[in-house]
Amino acid sequence: MLNQIKGLHHVTSMAADARTNNAFFTDTLGLRRVKKTVNFDSPDVYHLYYGDETGTPGTVMTYFPFPDMGRGRPGTGEVGTTVFSVPEGALDYWSDRLSARGATGLKAETTFGENRLNFAGPDGDGFALIGVKDDPRAPWTSNGIDADHAIRGFHSVSMRLRDDGATRELLTFMGYETLETRDGVTRLAVPGAAAASVIDLETMPNIARGQQGAGSVHHVAFAVENREKQLEVRKALMDTGHQVTPVIDRDYFWAIYFRTPGGVLFEIATNEPGFDRDEDTAHLGEALKLPQQHKHLRPILEQHLPKLDA
Ligand code: ZN
Repeated sequence: MLNQIKGLHHVTSMAADARTNNAFFTDTLGLRRVKKTVNFDSPDVYHLYYGDETGTPGTVMTYFPFPDMGRGRPGTGEVGTTVFSVPEGALDYWSDRLSARGATGLKAETTFGENRLNFAGPDGDGFALIGVKDDPRAPWTSNGIDADHAIRGFHSVSMRLRDDGATRELLTFMGYETLETRDGVTRLAVPGAAAASVIDLETMPNIARGQQGAGSVHHVAFAVENREKQLEVRKALMDTGHQVTPVIDRDYFWAIYFRTPGGVLFEIATNEPGFDRDEDTAHLGEALKLPQQHKHLRPILEQHLPKLDA
């Protein structure tokens, strides 16, 4: 069993409109845009990162806004809900704020003894907020959202699977422990992780595979401290029969990817070097940053990519 994985690193989803996506995450949810760059494989598409002040692993929601992309059709084999942590008692505030801003899918419920508020993102993305007592992470505070209410980072992701057996076995190998099963949902957590440590597996044997599109989670990334730990994880996964990509330099972290037996695309990402490697912390996310191989495209991209509000 591995001990290098320290919870979630980031979650990457797809959207249909960059400006709407940016406004929702910065203005409505009050996260900080910590990087404005482009998709390595499609440089005409943004890659936008939202998180806490510095984009600490475990807080970072990222998006590929493909202009006019059709909506995904939710199903199995994908992350169904991305869950953020807010202070206990902040859910009424969020219910008012989200409904005032036209968010849909608002529903309060209690799961695993925790109060939560489900809501949908601009493309129908599945989100929830969970009230957590004493989450130690310092929040980014902006747009009138103070520290008593602001998002701390991820609480968990929930994966929808036709059968959770193989995914649960894999997560156990990755260092997760099964905590309990309630109402058909099995909760796992990585011991010793400070936050963003929980994964819920929802078994839906009769539901078809999801069709990815706007509002779908493209992949979920798990955090390791550095490249050395990443290579240990890569070798262990390969030795147990997983097809893992080579290490890929993503400028702000190094990444490896593999498709899991339940259908969800996993990434293992390093906590180094971080989002401040090419911008001061005070100005993170403001300038358009381009990967080395796309730098020559700057004049075209600056003209072509939609202008985002700060
Ligand atoms: Zn990623």
